[in-house]
Amino acid sequence: MVSTIKKETMNERTTLSPCRVCGGDAFTHHDVLWSELIAQWGLSSGEAEYINVQQGTSCTGCGSNVRSIALADALLRWTRAAMTLKEWVDTAAARRCDILEINEAGTLSGTLSLLPGHRLVRYPECDMMTLPFEARSFDVVVHSDTLEHVPDATRGLRECRRVLRPGGACLFTVPVVVGRLTRGRQGLPVSVHGSEGCTDASLTVHTEFGADVWCRVLESGFDECRIVPYRYPAGLALIAQVAESIPTEGGQW
Ligand SMILES: [Zn+2]
Repeated sequence: MVSTIKKETMNERTTLSPCRVCGGDAFTHHDVLWSELIAQWGLSSGEAEYINVQQGTSCTGCGSNVRSIALADALLRWTRAAMTLKEWVDTAAARRCDILEINEAGTLSGTLSLLPGHRLVRYPECDMMTLPFEARSFDVVVHSDTLEHVPDATRGLRECRRVLRPGGACLFTVPVVVGRLTRGRQGLPVSVHGSEGCTDASLTVHTEFGADVWCRVLESGFDECRIVPYRYPAGLALIAQVAESIPTEGGQW
């Protein structure tokens, strides 16, 4: 589909800040949405355009697409690391970090797996709504475009919060349509991500996130929610923060 893109549009799609994973500054693009999904989702042409960038514009150096780069950007902001993800994993701070990855977070998985404290589980074999870990086991939880496939997104986030230590954070991406509010797809025709014709039940969409995506984070018990752009609105990531200190039973800090 690359050949159908007008040159000026292609330039817009491939003119991005340097890749936060590898530092590369060359990008390529191919559309990933198909007409049936665009209709089910009710996307305007402008919304389809930026979702296509989110999923289909990739760094030629490391292969990361915009959503993966946005997640890397969020992790680096959270750790206050002025470097690429590939550099960060070699730092002492990173190597002290216990990180849970739920589903391969796009192309970040190979880099994150270099960390001694990295643990990867896959949804739905590992149910995000009932994680098999003790409370306060991790410093970071990451997932990328998985939460929209979890039947109860709030419950999934609540589990992420439960397994985080004080001061930890859940960093994640979901496709966000910024000009509307979140809607559940209960009662609507089944919509499946992945690729055209895909029938993988684990890719069934339960929630289409909108501008109120932050509400789910706070409803799940997190203490703070930041939405950070690698590129607005195509490349957004969320930082769901657990406070450093937690209230005692008496409600005192
Ligand atoms: Zn890259």
